[in-house]
Amino acid sequence: MEQPELSTLDELAREARACTACPDLPLGPAPVLQVSAQARVLLIGQAPGTKAHLSGRPFTDASGDRLRAWLAITPEIFYDPTKLCILPMGLCYPGRLPKGGDCPPRPLCAPLWHSRFLALMPRIELVLLVGSYAIKHYLGPGLMTDHVRRGRAGKFWPLPHPSWRTGHWERQNPWFTHATLPALRAELCRLTAQ
Ligand code: SF4
Repeated sequence: MEQPELSTLDELAREARACTACPDLPLGPAPVLQVSAQARVLLIGQAPGTKAHLSGRPFTDASGDRLRAWLAITPEIFYDPTKLCILPMGLCYPGRLPKGGDCPPRPLCAPLWHSRFLALMPRIELVLLVGSYAIKHYLGPGLMTDHVRRGRAGKFWPLPHPSWRTGHWERQNPWFTHATLPALRAELCRLTAQ
């Protein structure tokens, strides 16, 4: 049966995967995303790391393991595009900073692609904003911790970036483990059940 919405989203995904708007990326353009018109949850992260760049799948690293543990969802659900869409702030690996850590997502990327994808994902009820770049873009300025502590804002749910550095932050902010995550897990369980 013909599904116009699906084919349109597929076309947009193909267009994004062929994007070469940043020819100076250190490993070249290689957009990493996961989309479908069926999912009710969208995860907006930062940008792929080197492992995700090489695998072509988002969060195939220790940060992904931590994120899946926070969300209490299996890799099978996490990588099922009909359950969860993933659209980073920068679709391509941005390179390393001289003092370590990855460069910020390319600033032109989200304005170029996000609204076009969101228009073709009408079932999205919950948008997880993972990390300060996504939080700032969608919820405005402010400390990441303050945004996360305030919790869900409409369909947006801000979260820290799940890097190893966040372990210290979690110990300093136990409400995240004891209140935020259980509430988030219950909502994800509901939204990924069908
Ligand atoms: S980072 Fe975004 S805008 Fe730049 S090449 Fe990749 S997909 Fe295109």
